[in-house]
Amino acid sequence: MGKLFVIVDMLNDFINPSGKLYFPKGRSVVDPVVRLRAAFRAAGVPVLYVNDAHPEDSGEFASWPPHCVMGTWGARIIDELHAGPGDIVLGKDALTVFAHGAAEALVTGYGATHLIMAGVATEYCVQACALDARARGLAVTVALDAIAGVDLNEGDAATALEAMRQAGVAFTGADRLLEELG
Ligand SMILES: [Zn+2]
Repeated sequence: MGKLFVIVDMLNDFINPSGKLYFPKGRSVVDPVVRLRAAFRAAGVPVLYVNDAHPEDSGEFASWPPHCVMGTWGARIIDELHAGPGDIVLGKDALTVFAHGAAEALVTGYGATHLIMAGVATEYCVQACALDARARGLAVTVALDAIAGVDLNEGDAATALEAMRQAGVAFTGADRLLEELG
């Protein structure tokens, strides 16, 4: 089964304390995502970054303060996780990368049928990408300790996890994945 390791929105505006939509819980996933990325690379699994990359007049800014504007520091992947040779980087002007046809073509092109996901934020882009992947018939596994929610309203992240579970998303932990990857 072709796999892709998908890293969602590990960008300065979300993860760096100076970022426009920084939330402290996001920091906690940096270390597990770094470790998972190394293991997936070593196992020959392609790494796909799914990154907010908004134009200055993005429709998203009607509901959120401007963030991750293309070409700005905030839209860059955090220093700990800079993309390397062979990694794939896709921008999105939406919660889900599947809003853009390129994502589907790319997943198909790689022969991927199983996405393993990590990153932020649980109830926004992680959830949207996971549900869209399931709707396209892809298997999805989410590393629970390598995602973090904002919980703007208490319980938002838990509600998102339940919606993902009902859609057939599987959950695991970073250590378990690392063990399986050897
Ligand atoms: Zn955004």
